[in-house]
Amino acid sequence: MVLAPSLGSGPRGPLDREMRRRDFQRLCALAAAAVGLPAKVAEQFAEAAVAGQKPSVIWLHFQECTGCTESLLRTSHPALDELILDLISLDYHETLLVPSGHLAEECRQRAMEAHAGKFVLVVEGAIPTKDGGIYCKIGGHTAIEMLEETAAKAGAIIAIGSCASWGGIPSADPNPTGAKGAHEILAGKTVVNLPGCPANPYILLGTVLQYATLGTLPELDEKARPKFGYGQTIHEHCPRRAHFDAGRFALAYGDAGHREGWCLYKLGCKGPATHASCSTLHFGEVVGAWPIGLGHPCFGCTEQRLAFRVPLHDTVDIERPTPPDTYPPIHAPQGEVGAVATGLAGLAGGAAIGAAWMAAKKLGGGEGAPPADGE
Ligand code: SF4
Repeated sequence: MVLAPSLGSGPRGPLDREMRRRDFQRLCALAAAAVGLPAKVAEQFAEAAVAGQKPSVIWLHFQECTGCTESLLRTSHPALDELILDLISLDYHETLLVPSGHLAEECRQRAMEAHAGKFVLVVEGAIPTKDGGIYCKIGGHTAIEMLEETAAKAGAIIAIGSCASWGGIPSADPNPTGAKGAHEILAGKTVVNLPGCPANPYILLGTVLQYATLGTLPELDEKARPKFGYGQTIHEHCPRRAHFDAGRFALAYGDAGHREGWCLYKLGCKGPATHASCSTLHFGEVVGAWPIGLGHPCFGCTEQRLAFRVPLHDTVDIERPTPPDTYPPIHAPQGEVGAVATGLAGLAGGAAIGAAWMAAKKLGGGEGAPPADGE
């Protein structure tokens, strides 16, 4: 694929190359550990990638804001965008592709033919179905046509973000374009759903890595979400959970409880009914960079029945009310996740996220990455 110049690789000195190698190994270790794969698999994957054996990825954009792509490529970690592009062969991606018009279309056709039955199709955005799908056309083809044609030759299909998973914002009432998720168009095919607004990049990389190295997909829940990333509710590992169980709630933005980092349930937090890993795997590799960490209630973006449907300040039922045996430290800086919480995530979810940070550190990382205050 021909990428935009800012994503290309320039000349590098020995020190730069060594740092890059270590960052690359670290990225592989994190992605592998996110899906519970051993560090050995991450090493194999890194070696295969260096040898040029990278999984081909065709990435389609439909009705969306490109937030999932931005989240993947705009982390605060230096050059993570280049590392990701070293990990996978991104053969078609409308945001990053330099060619346009029929040349861009040729890229997609060539990638489909060259890697038929093996490439990973990533779908970002909802698919409009009303009026023959005319509300999203690319190169003269409707989103439905592009999706069906590409999916027919894909080895694995991943819907990234809430829009591609179940319609997301475009499907909010009154859903004027008849927006739907990819799995509704591709009935009979396995579509891995990675909902989130945006989805966490490590969950995508872990899923792609497992498919590329083992030829399998992660275990999925009843909504086709990988259990390693969506097996727990936000509430189970929230750093404000001790306040919830003690009955300490913020009642208004800026009140004393809000400033003290108390529980946001009464402001409409959907964390008790939202399955996601945000409380242990923050965004952009910035500690505390997730809604509750920033003092805003979770709005349930991974749940079709909540996000963009239930009003922001309405409360939800408590799905799993039993308090945990151990809490994150309640006096930790607002929004940060304690070492205990990270450890619990690894134990309870099987995601081994806590172990991931340790594996990454052993491989030479260590600065500026783990979204946990215990590192
Ligand atoms: Fe955290 Fe929300 Fe649960 Fe309160 S209700 S503990 S803020 S997830």
